[in-house]
Amino acid sequence: MSALSFAFTHFIRNLLTPPGDICLTCGGKSRLVRNWPGICQRCADGIPWIDKARCLYCGRAFGCPDCLRMEVRDRAFILNRSAVQYSDVMREWLAQYKYRGHERYAQLLIRMMSHTLVQMEREISALHSGAGQPASKMRWKPDMITFVPVSTTRLMERGFNQAQVLAEGLGKIHHIPIVPLLIRSEHTGKQSFKTRQERIQSMQHAFVIDPEGLQFINSIRLDWSTRSKRSLTGTPQSMGALRILLIDDIYTTGSTVNTCSGVMQNAVQHYYGLKTEIFSLTWARS
Ligand SMILES: [Zn+2]
Ligand SMILES: [Zn+2]
Repeated sequence: MSALSFAFTHFIRNLLTPPGDICLTCGGKSRLVRNWPGICQRCADGIPWIDKARCLYCGRAFGCPDCLRMEVRDRAFILNRSAVQYSDVMREWLAQYKYRGHERYAQLLIRMMSHTLVQMEREISALHSGAGQPASKMRWKPDMITFVPVSTTRLMERGFNQAQVLAEGLGKIHHIPIVPLLIRSEHTGKQSFKTRQERIQSMQHAFVIDPEGLQFINSIRLDWSTRSKRSLTGTPQSMGALRILLIDDIYTTGSTVNTCSGVMQNAVQHYYGLKTEIFSLTWARS
């Protein structure tokens, strides 16, 4: 690189990230990092990434008793991956975004999830390339992205659906269609006053399929069925399944992801006779 072009690149970089910007997350005056929009190096270094999930089902960073229980074995989704552990700092970031509507956090969270989606694509592709097929042929990519909905009342209060904004950002970056497949029914009451059984029951009625969204599957299915045969299960004669990536901000017990997955799985099977493979990507794992 010539001295002139180096100087020019340096000049442009400085224009984009002038030294002494205010960091979005700590409020300090500092040079911002290039990878993660709006934050300083110290904040970037403190992100509690889950680079390698210890629990292959729910994506937890440490050993996971939840996933050993019998009831989780017939889960409707294949796995969850989360970008970060839900630390106190991450809780504060999410609160800024979700409850205080701080828009600049959306871009930061989207970029973080995008990083994890790339990792997920690699991880799942590697899992399925074991059947003697070259990894490039078995590249895993979702056919569509959908998101956990909020109720109309919540949407009016908050002004936006935090999961939808994240899903749309990811869809744009990764060129994957966004399909709103679910509707959340109105208030299911305060979850904290309910027993575990009551909570599971109320959750089962909390989500229904969005008939408009379901129609989108037709167009995606046409595009998808013209592709060459592929298989996730190692049976080359099958067409594989419709791969749906479900987005939410946080994964806690997995019951939201599971309920949503069950509703989508049944509807797609019922209306289109198609199998689904539902994967979940959440920003944080609590
Ligand atoms: Zn900072
Ligand atoms: Zn787990």
